[in-house]
Amino acid sequence: MRVVRNLCTILCTVLAFLVIIYSIFLPRIVLKGESSLIINYKQKYVEKGCKATILGKDLTDKVKLKGKVNNNKLGDYKIEYIVSLFGIKFSQERIVKVRDISKPVIELNGLENTYVCPNTKYKDEGAKAFDNYDKDITKKIRIEKKDDSVIYTVSDSSNNINSVTRKLIYDDKTKPEIKLSGSEELYVSLGGSYSDPGYIATDNCDGDVTNKVKTSGGVDTSKQGSYEITYFVQDSKSNKSEVKRKVIVSNGVIYLTFDDGPQMGTTNVILDILKEEGVKATFFVTNKGDDSLIKREYDEGHTVALHTATHDYAILYASDEAYFNDLYSVQNRVKRITGIESKIIRFPGGSSNTISRRYSQGIMSRITKEVLNRGFKYYDWNLSSGDAAGGTPSSSDIYNNVVNNLRHDRVNMVLMHDIKPYTRDALRDIIRYGKQNGYRFEKITEDTEMVTQRVNN
Ligand code: ZN
Repeated sequence: MRVVRNLCTILCTVLAFLVIIYSIFLPRIVLKGESSLIINYKQKYVEKGCKATILGKDLTDKVKLKGKVNNNKLGDYKIEYIVSLFGIKFSQERIVKVRDISKPVIELNGLENTYVCPNTKYKDEGAKAFDNYDKDITKKIRIEKKDDSVIYTVSDSSNNINSVTRKLIYDDKTKPEIKLSGSEELYVSLGGSYSDPGYIATDNCDGDVTNKVKTSGGVDTSKQGSYEITYFVQDSKSNKSEVKRKVIVSNGVIYLTFDDGPQMGTTNVILDILKEEGVKATFFVTNKGDDSLIKREYDEGHTVALHTATHDYAILYASDEAYFNDLYSVQNRVKRITGIESKIIRFPGGSSNTISRRYSQGIMSRITKEVLNRGFKYYDWNLSSGDAAGGTPSSSDIYNNVVNNLRHDRVNMVLMHDIKPYTRDALRDIIRYGKQNGYRFEKITEDTEMVTQRVNN
C-alpha cells in the first residue's frame, strides 16, 4: 500500500511539475478573434493574427501561418499558427467556414402597392429573384395568392429564405386619358369653318369613355385670334382629366401666281386641279401658248395678268419703249381673248432683276415708276417655289419650298411657273396643305396691295 501511495505521490508530483514547465517554459499561442468563425460567400477574410510568447517574451514575429481561405468556394478552411522551437512545432488552429448566408433578393414586377380595378381579378405580374450564390432563382419563387395580397417566397440552395408581399388595393386612382385627333394647335382660315378633328378617351378601368367627354370653348371664325377648346372627362371613380387645343383663326393668305404660260400639258392640268380644289389663282401670261387656255383661265374665274409678250430680256429690256411695246402686245392679246384690259403686271425676272443692266442702265428704276403712271400695278413675290432655279427639282422639292416658307402673319405671294411639270405635280398637295393649315387662297385683283422687291437697276 505504501509503495502504491508513494508511486502516486511521485506521479502527481511529476505531473504537476510538467504542468508548471509547460506553463512557464513552453511557448503560448493565443489567437486574436474567434477560433471558429463563419464568413459569407465572397466576403473578404480578414486575418486577425495571434500573439505568441515564451517566458513573457514576445514571439509573435516568429509565428508562421499555414492554410488559406478561398471565399469563392463554400467550405471549411483551417489556418494554423506555428512556432518552431528546438525543432519542435507548437501550433494553434482556426477554422474559417465560408457559407452562403445572404438572403436572395426579390424584385416585384409592377408595384408593391398595386391598384386593382374594383370588381376585377388581379392578374399576377410576377417577380424576379436573384441570389448571391445561386444567381437567378426566379423559377424557384413560390406564389401565394390571398384576397388582398400576393406573397412571393424564395429559398436559395443554402436555405436562406426571403419573402415579399404585394398589397392589392381594389380602387381606381388612375386618370382617364384623352388623345386628341389632329394637332394640339391648329389654324383655321378667317371666315372659314371649324370642325373639330375629334378625340378618343380611355380609362384603365372603365375602358372607352369617349362618349363621356365634355368640351367647352368655341371658335369664332369671323374673328381673327387664338381660341382654346377644353376637353374634360371623368371616370366612374371621379378621376378627372382634361386637355386643351389651341385653335388660331388666321388671316394668312396665299396668292398662287403662275408665270410664263400658257402651255398645253401643264396649264390645262393646273386649271383642272384649281377647279377641283375650288381655288382661284393668277396667271401672268405671255404671247405663247393656245388662246383657248387663256380663255379657260378667264372663264374659270382666275385673274389673267400680264408678264410681257416675248419674255425675251434682250428685246423687252432694250429700252423703255421696247418694254412698253412688249407689254401692250400681251395686253392686247388678253383683251382680244377675254375682253378685259388687264392692268396687273409682273416684270420678267421681277422688279429687282439685274440682268436688264446688260441692255439698258437704270431701266427698272424708270419703268417701275412709269407703269404706275400708266395705271398698271405690278406684283413681285415674297415666296419662291424654286421652280425656275434650273436643274430638275422634284415635285416634293417644290412642295417643301412653298409650305416651309408660308407664314400666317403676312400675305404669301407665291411665285410658280405653269410651264413646269413638277410645279403642276406639286400643286394639289400645296393647296391641301394650305387649306389644312388655315390659309385662304385669293387671286390678285386691282384692289390687291402691291408686293414689290427692291429695284437694283
Ligand atoms: Zn417669267
